Amino acid sequence: MNNILEIRTGVEIKENLCVESPSEPCAFVIFGASGDLTRRKLIPALFSLYGREMLPRGFYVLGCARSPFSDDSFRRSVAGVLEKRFPEASAADLSGFLSLFFYHSGNYQDQGWYDRLPDRLERLDAVYPTGGNRIYYLATPPALYATVVEGLGRAGLIRRTDEERPAARVVVEKPLGLDLASFLAFDSSITRYLSESQIYRIDHYLGKETVQNILMLRFANQIFEPVWNRQFVDHVQITVAETLGVEHRAGYYDQAGALRDMFQNHMFQLLALVAMEPPIAFDANCYRAEKVKLLQAVQGFSAEDPGPRVVRGQYTAGTIDGRDVPGYRQEEGIPAGSGTETFVAMKIMLDNWRWHGVPFYLRSGKMLRRKVSEIAVYFKAIPHSIFAPIEPEQLEPNVLVLKIQPEEGVSLTVEAKRPGPRLCITTLTLDYRYCDIYGVHSPDAYERLLLDAMAGDQTLFVQYEGAKLAWDILTPILSAWSAGTGTGTLQFYQAGSWGPAEADALLARDGRRWRMP
Ligand code: NDP
Repeated sequence: MNNILEIRTGVEIKENLCVESPSEPCAFVIFGASGDLTRRKLIPALFSLYGREMLPRGFYVLGCARSPFSDDSFRRSVAGVLEKRFPEASAADLSGFLSLFFYHSGNYQDQGWYDRLPDRLERLDAVYPTGGNRIYYLATPPALYATVVEGLGRAGLIRRTDEERPAARVVVEKPLGLDLASFLAFDSSITRYLSESQIYRIDHYLGKETVQNILMLRFANQIFEPVWNRQFVDHVQITVAETLGVEHRAGYYDQAGALRDMFQNHMFQLLALVAMEPPIAFDANCYRAEKVKLLQAVQGFSAEDPGPRVVRGQYTAGTIDGRDVPGYRQEEGIPAGSGTETFVAMKIMLDNWRWHGVPFYLRSGKMLRRKVSEIAVYFKAIPHSIFAPIEPEQLEPNVLVLKIQPEEGVSLTVEAKRPGPRLCITTLTLDYRYCDIYGVHSPDAYERLLLDAMAGDQTLFVQYEGAKLAWDILTPILSAWSAGTGTGTLQFYQAGSWGPAEADALLARDGRRWRMP
């Protein structure tokens, strides 16, 4: 990594300290090249990097899928994506970028197809000097991940090694299994051909600017760390709320549900970042080891009874932003009697010195009132009020809110004197919004993560142990739900609300309530 000191003039930003990992020349091979993820995320992210001259010099994309594209027709389909997303892009940029795209059509079940792949790649490598480095991006249905890895392995394109050169890295999208057993089975099938240093498990939340900023805020400042513990923090709320339903992913979602879709990855990653100990260094080993230690401290749930610490809900018809929306069971592609949860709230306790006794309340759901992702750290009430007759409990506790999306920034509430001759206390919010300071929307998380994969930097990718621990924690809940044991009965909530009443009761039992972002 290079340390670059960049001096800028300006009012707010005097200087920037940047840590950069240079990306290496590589072939970027996309399995699932005709799919939704490629269109919506990978192509736009690569184009943005191209526009900012951040792609390596030796670079090309080889798209793989069944759709019978030629190189030319694949480029036309990529061009269609870009024209919609980047209408302002210049013709020169478009044609330069498209010239890097190639296509290899075939069925992932056909070993003969993989056997022809090395020849195709070698011919392209001869034109685009990649040094033989390759990134294989698995954007296929998850059931095919192991098939593709096996096909690549049998064709000699990947082999289990910790040697860095030439690089053969595989990027895997979520979901990583459906429970602990299927995750372990999947992992053992791919580790026949790949070592841990070659597997890049992507959780795009980790590439978000605001999520990375949690680390900066905690570990690049002195003032937070001394109060970041059970002595000063009352509780923490983590919310990831969506206003959308299942959209075009009904088949996937109805099998997965909110617990698998959001908690196994994004929610637990946010929990780990906000609660983990300071890593010795921001590198893959130190940073990920601290996240693992944090997940090891999560108090387990019992398969017999995951309640009352877990609430699961499903939306019914309602109104969001003035539009009428159907209930989950009326959505296209969802079975009429589906028991899949679209909302989960849970209370997590951590068995370690720093957080003993401090609840972490997590909630995530679809068709909620507002789209918002944030972490709110509630500090304890002051121990004594010198402003009698005002009691300590009458003063609002300080709340530090780390805003992840769509608003990006940080806010802190403080009690302050309201101007005037009487002694009146009011709550002020110190608010810092990225868009006010930097004036632009943050780059898409995929840009950062693709660059890191090209640089061989696994820091922002999920490691085996972390993914396994998340399943360790969640599998008893899933088992209890499917067996119908315990108190995890499905609760219904109206679309456009903040979730089922039982989610409110989860906090009310502790004398607390959810923040209304
Ligand atoms: P799609 O169904 O849109 O795309 C699947 C791709 O796989 C298509 O390109 C399809 O191509 C190809 N494919 C399927 N079967 C075969 C086969 N037997 N042989 C060759 N190609 C095949 O899926 P998404 O793009 O939505 O998702 C891809 C992965 O990314 C999934 O694991 C998903 O969970 C994950 N993901 C997706 C997100 C999203 O927003 N879409 C977000 C986060 C994760 P063709 O039909 O041409 O063969």
